[in-house]
Amino acid sequence: MARYLVVGGVAAGAAFAAKMRRLDERAEIIIFEKGPHVSYANCGLPYYIGDVIKEEAELLLHTPESLHGRINAQVLVNTEVLSINRAYKSVTAKDLTTGEEKEYAYDKLMLAPGGVAIRPNIQGMELPEVFTIKDVTDTVNIKKFIDDKKPAHATVIGGGFIGLEMAENFHALGIKVALVEATRQAMPPFDYEMAAILHNHLRDKGIDLRLSSTLKSIKKAAKGLELELDKGAVATDFVLMAIGVRPLSKLAHEAGLEIGATGGIKTNQYMQTSDPDIYAAGDAVEVQHFVTGKQQLIPLAGIANKQARAAAFHINGRARTVRPVQGTSVVKVFDLTAAITGSSEKVLKDNNVCYDKVYLHPASHAAYYPGGSPLSIKLLFSRDSGCILGCQIIGKEGADKRIDVISTAMFAHLSIYELGSLELAYAPPYSSARDPVNYAGDVAVEVVKSSYCQFFWNDLENIDYDKVFLVDSRFPSEYKRGTIGKAVNIPLPEIRKRLDEFPRDKDIYIFCQSGLRSYVSSRILRQEGFNVYNLSGGYLSWQIVDKDRKSSQ
Ligand code: FAD
Repeated sequence: MARYLVVGGVAAGAAFAAKMRRLDERAEIIIFEKGPHVSYANCGLPYYIGDVIKEEAELLLHTPESLHGRINAQVLVNTEVLSINRAYKSVTAKDLTTGEEKEYAYDKLMLAPGGVAIRPNIQGMELPEVFTIKDVTDTVNIKKFIDDKKPAHATVIGGGFIGLEMAENFHALGIKVALVEATRQAMPPFDYEMAAILHNHLRDKGIDLRLSSTLKSIKKAAKGLELELDKGAVATDFVLMAIGVRPLSKLAHEAGLEIGATGGIKTNQYMQTSDPDIYAAGDAVEVQHFVTGKQQLIPLAGIANKQARAAAFHINGRARTVRPVQGTSVVKVFDLTAAITGSSEKVLKDNNVCYDKVYLHPASHAAYYPGGSPLSIKLLFSRDSGCILGCQIIGKEGADKRIDVISTAMFAHLSIYELGSLELAYAPPYSSARDPVNYAGDVAVEVVKSSYCQFFWNDLENIDYDKVFLVDSRFPSEYKRGTIGKAVNIPLPEIRKRLDEFPRDKDIYIFCQSGLRSYVSSRILRQEGFNVYNLSGGYLSWQIVDKDRKSSQ
């Protein structure tokens, strides 16, 4: 009878043990978990704080007893694995309640220790009002603090997905929130101009957004805490640090297993470490990125689950390899959903990958059916091969399903040439006869295959009117409400009659609200011999950034 030991009893560890049991009924499986809980829903923790999930028990997918009952594994909670003795194929584990240390032999070992929330080495980190959120115990502590102290103000440090979820959930409790982010944007995997949609929404919801601001120190004040930032200060009642996780690879490192430059454990495509009897999965391992081919840390639950299952299959002689990772993810930010797959533009630039891009703002479902809202889409692709390199979608409705379609298309190596032909479900409450995904593909193909030329929101920053004639092709009523720079208003229906107003010695930069009417105008002008460029994403794309910049001044 084979014996499998599992270090870590949550996402990857529990998934591995459950799959192992289904594949091998006779094996002995022992799970070591240094905390008091196993198999809980990390991803639900912020929503328990915001009272969306009402009961702590709902977060606990299993107790040690129920997990034992379900998969017949020995579940040792409050037990930390201290070392791996590879020569003897054993681990030393310590019962944290009794202090007793014991040796356990293994045939195969799974390392699923996850990561640890990063706490920077600055003054005040040790104060009881400074929290991180990684597990159920952290969550219960935050909840207890809020219930006991009734704080009026919270400061979240870090604008990644956990920071944003926590900001929203504190806000839901009536707590005022400051969100401090060291870079110029929230949601670092997104490009700035897409994250700007979230910035505007967060400010509209009353979040005090402090971008490009770094926390320097935390001090006790007469009432609450005083946070010193490199720019200014914040008076607050408590702090939630959400600046990322570091892989827990120390155990593996001390056992002589190979660790990558990212700090994550190195594995092959079956999740075997440099020791073939030791596997690893989850936040502690590094993964290969689908687009750049680089090794990276991408701590997401779906990735952990797939890796754990691949390892269990491999041990049982069924080869299922893990594929490079696209980083497909989604986050709720108040009324918006922000979703991403593949690489952002900034990552493509950093990796010298040639790309082109389109921005669109189609309606989430047929415009004539009530309740639709715009989706902002940025699609990145290769001009040469048409291969999809990445996509970011933000909107109130339907961003999640569109990103999953694009993610699947990328996974299957479909190109922009196939996106327009995908047969996607349609009825007015859900979509349009030409779904936003079809539309994005069609626009990308137009960019590559026709004489259609685009310009972008950032090309408007230092526009030289001696060389460029900027045209707003929207209706006069829209133009009056606001336009870009010195744009001249020539609406689409008038364009054929007013051709003599377009100078032949300048580039024509044209825009409308979302890019469609000006696209039609640009086709007319191109055929009349003008050198014309259409603003991708139109006035909407420009306005998002303009609003964000004005608010952050
Ligand atoms: P974990 O789930 O963290 O489990 C590792 C376990 O190993 C821990 O319980 C730890 O105590 C234990 N351990 C560590 N060292 C030892 C040792 N030496 N001995 C014994 N036990 C040990 N991902 C998404 O995809 N979508 C989301 O919406 C999402 N939301 C999240 C929200 C929050 C608040 C957090 C914290 C994470 C979220 N994630 C989300 C990330 C996701 O939870 C992780 O990617 C996933 O849990 C990683 O699984 P893991 O098994 O590697 O690590």
